[in-house]
Amino acid sequence: MSGRRVAISGGTVATDYGVFEADIVIEDGRVAAIADGAGRNGADEVIDATGLVVMPGAIDLHAHFEDPGHTEREDFTTGTMSAAAGGMTTIMEHPLTYPPVTTRELYVEKREMAKRKVVIDFGLWGALTAPSIPEIAGQHEEGAGGFKAFMPISDPSYPHVTDAEFLDGMREVKAVGGLVLVHAESDSLLQAGLARMKAAGRTDPMAHHESRPAFVEEEAVHRALYLAAHADVRIQIVHVSSPVSAELVKQEKLRGRPVSMEICPHHLTLDLDDLVRLGPYGVCAPALRERELVERLWAYVLDGTADCLISDHSAYTLEEKEGGWEDIFEALLGCQVIQETVPVVLDEAYHRRGMPLDAFARFASTNPARIAGLYPRKGTLLPGSDADIAIFDLDSEWVVDARSQQFSKNPWSPFDGRALRARVVRTLVRGETVYADGEIVAEPGSGRFLSCHDDYSLGGAPRAAAAG
Ligand SMILES: [Zn+2]
Repeated sequence: MSGRRVAISGGTVATDYGVFEADIVIEDGRVAAIADGAGRNGADEVIDATGLVVMPGAIDLHAHFEDPGHTEREDFTTGTMSAAAGGMTTIMEHPLTYPPVTTRELYVEKREMAKRKVVIDFGLWGALTAPSIPEIAGQHEEGAGGFKAFMPISDPSYPHVTDAEFLDGMREVKAVGGLVLVHAESDSLLQAGLARMKAAGRTDPMAHHESRPAFVEEEAVHRALYLAAHADVRIQIVHVSSPVSAELVKQEKLRGRPVSMEICPHHLTLDLDDLVRLGPYGVCAPALRERELVERLWAYVLDGTADCLISDHSAYTLEEKEGGWEDIFEALLGCQVIQETVPVVLDEAYHRRGMPLDAFARFASTNPARIAGLYPRKGTLLPGSDADIAIFDLDSEWVVDARSQQFSKNPWSPFDGRALRARVVRTLVRGETVYADGEIVAEPGSGRFLSCHDDYSLGGAPRAAAAG
């Protein structure tokens, strides 16, 4: 590499271990020094961050890019461009694509395809379905550090697990030292709820919520944690929407169990009034919740129980959503949020709820890096860390307008019209600017694959060599 020095100068550094004024000096894609105002001396390039906040790039452990299979919705290029424009520098993509990534071979195919498309760094979770249990070890060898299971029916191509299958899968994941990721909603309670709505002839937006109330999630979280304790495996409850679920996770943590949880921007900022207003565009699983639950969920973000902010980005075409105005159950489940995830939640957390910026850095970056095994090379700003950085303006106001702002193939957002005082000014991945002032400046293929077998220590080998 060149030995070229870049300094990010004059900003407020907000990282997991503190908030302070400093310059960040970058060399060979890594943080070389965190210095006082002299950091700019001798730099080949100075990025002026006066009045701005410099944070470790956000790490989204939960994105769906629908690639391969439904690239009319999104692909690895538009997905990672959107992520970069939203201050993210690493994403972990989920195995539910078409075909779903349930074998070693399909994992390798997807990995090699995605490598050529991404503009930020990425990893791929493996699959935990009953037929794919024998493939867990192979997927792990190819780089998967975590494996996703569904407790409720999701897609016919990706079978959900019975308790017995789930336990078998957990033991296999435990054997490779991996992480279990679970979509926790009770299938039988959900099916009963859907049948109840159908019998009543309900097709309105609230019927989506009433078919899968918080109890449907809470019961499954309870069961998943109980099974995971039995298998003694690390488990992450994905997209938690209920404070009762968060409390269950907290109690497990207090028992010393290695459990963690994720939260989406929509579950932290939208409620049932928004579901009625947004109709199909507010349909996701778990569903949006009562305002009272949203408020109680925030307590678990502020006390640190909620480990990771994630997007659960699910891009659908407008046609795939529009049908939901007639019958809400026609709308595909998921929200198109990756580009607004960090700005929306940072605005809410910092300006409206008094969350300190170092706590936000842990929520958006450090904790996800630890959970995915990427820390301390990623998820913090220390000498030796990858220079994965997002620079924010936390003062000037802007308004979300997906059509004119998003890099997604299907620009729409449940946050359209929302005024924010948290704007991504620039995003750098390993020291290279990927996004600045509304433009993506990186080429597809500039991101790297993050294998669970790579060395993520500060002194570890440069990934350029490892990636070949
Ligand atoms: Zn998801």
